[in-house]
Amino acid sequence: MTAVNDLLLATNNSKKIQEIRQILGIGFAGRILCAADFPELPEPEETGTTFLENARLKADYYCSRTGLISLADDSGLVVDALGGRPGVYSARYAETEALRISKLISELDDVPPPLRTARFECALCVALPGGKYIEQTGTLEGRIAHFPKGSHGFGYDPVFLVGDTESTLAELPATEKNSISHRAVAMKKIQADLLNALIVG
Ligand code: IMP
Repeated sequence: MTAVNDLLLATNNSKKIQEIRQILGIGFAGRILCAADFPELPEPEETGTTFLENARLKADYYCSRTGLISLADDSGLVVDALGGRPGVYSARYAETEALRISKLISELDDVPPPLRTARFECALCVALPGGKYIEQTGTLEGRIAHFPKGSHGFGYDPVFLVGDTESTLAELPATEKNSISHRAVAMKKIQADLLNALIVG
């Protein structure tokens, strides 16, 4: 008989949970829990120096404490003209989302369009009880705009021009973003192995 394991998502970011749910799709019939379902567990500190280190650290933390298959992502924006910043510090670059965007734009003030290349990077780690990991990465290439546009998405979406277009990620409907995003690319790569680990028998 086939049984389905529950999956714990090691995040409380509702937009990410929504994206990951949509990406996992109808192929998955199990319960999807998130970090908020375990209020007794304080969120682990992200002390890694790479996206993959942070993803593994979070997946490991929740899997070892709950015994559930745990999926963690770590992601951020890598800007070439800033030597890769904000990178793993994307969420901590300034105090609020609006301040992070204005800091980024002002730091790139005198950088001409051809040199404003950037990418979103995502590392995914699934920690399985017993100490095994499934890991994948994904990227989305683009450029940093001179001013924010669009109202969808979150984080740096309003200043991220997708590929070589003039549309920001925040101007795309969620379904479109979720089909091309760094998280979607990594999820598509990890999907088969993850579903394999979730469905037993
Ligand atoms: P994390 O939650 O530690 O992975 O932090 C990721 C940070 O990178 C977020 O707080 C955002 O600032 C940024 N980020 C990651 N993915 C996206 C995205 O899809 N759009 C916009 N910003 C993102």
